[in-house]
Amino acid sequence: MKKSFNYRIYSNIETIQKAEKWLNLCRQLYNNCLKERIIAYKEKKESISVYQQMEKLPHFKKAFPEYKHISSQTLQDVLQRLDKAYQNFFRRVKNGSEKAGFPRFKGYHRYDSFTLKQTGWKLNGKYFTVKNIGKFKIKLSRPIEGTIKTITISRNSSNKWLVCFSCDKVPLKPLPKTNKEIGVDMGCESFLTDSNGNKVNNPRFFKKSQRLLTGRQQKLSHKKKSSNLRNKARILVAKAHEKVFNQRKDFHFKIANQLLKENDIVYIEKLKLWKTFRNLNRSMRDVAWFGFFNILKAKAEEAGREVIEVPARNTSQICSNCGIIVLKDLSVRVHNCSCGLVIDRDYNSALNILRLGQSLQGAETLVSAMN
Ligand SMILES: [Zn+2]
Repeated sequence: MKKSFNYRIYSNIETIQKAEKWLNLCRQLYNNCLKERIIAYKEKKESISVYQQMEKLPHFKKAFPEYKHISSQTLQDVLQRLDKAYQNFFRRVKNGSEKAGFPRFKGYHRYDSFTLKQTGWKLNGKYFTVKNIGKFKIKLSRPIEGTIKTITISRNSSNKWLVCFSCDKVPLKPLPKTNKEIGVDMGCESFLTDSNGNKVNNPRFFKKSQRLLTGRQQKLSHKKKSSNLRNKARILVAKAHEKVFNQRKDFHFKIANQLLKENDIVYIEKLKLWKTFRNLNRSMRDVAWFGFFNILKAKAEEAGREVIEVPARNTSQICSNCGIIVLKDLSVRVHNCSCGLVIDRDYNSALNILRLGQSLQGAETLVSAMN
């Protein structure tokens, strides 16, 4: 299994400045190569491939000696990132997305990491060293597992430095079978409701942090552009963002672990992609959904569990007892059916998600058994 391990790293000003310099040079290379591709297309209708650009790298390093200390693998990775940006753009065009988003030139805050492969760095106890940059202190809060494939060094928006080890062949940690399955409804009112009738509320700290964030954003908006005070205010906003992000992540991990510990299969409603975020509540719900879903899936893989997305087909309207449709808009929180079933709206959805998931699952097993 593939997995990433992230740690914060610390160093003196001199080393940090060197790392900053690498970032800047990588960013300039990125922007120049983007420019080269754009010009070639505008003037000669030619597309330049990532391989053509890679071939020129040794030449480029000779012409610009400031690049000579940066490993070739790191520079190749810059070109691959640009190529990926192009591929994503073409994919969006092909899919007919409204905003295809042509690859952009990267400003200072928009290019924040560089990558090394197996060489050019060393991890030795409390220290992490990058050749031609220097030594960082690192605290391995949890051990690195598997085989390290690449490392990525990044500066986050509050100017903290981090290293990410991307590993392969990370051993699985299967959990014992429970012979239980569960359906999960993700909501706006409560974070989730499961098919056993349990609810997990949105924790209050989200709101508290949101308030802090809004306050700091207002202060930032009153600061003069490109002033020192503005930069300080910007870092405070970034720190508030970070706090919300980390709290939300910890919360998602906790919920995911609990669901997977108790169940072999988790059925979860497939997220409908809304074309426009008409209201904030909904967009925030979607952000939370994606974050939670990704964690749930990654944790499930590690634990040998299954997470199955179930298409949302009237899951909130169908009666989980008799199957008829009981129309209700979002403000109606109780499902009240003529068959006598009166239960919480989200609980009813979770029961439908479980049943629908199990029946789809059963159909699939039948088809594969017939083939
Ligand atoms: Zn009913």
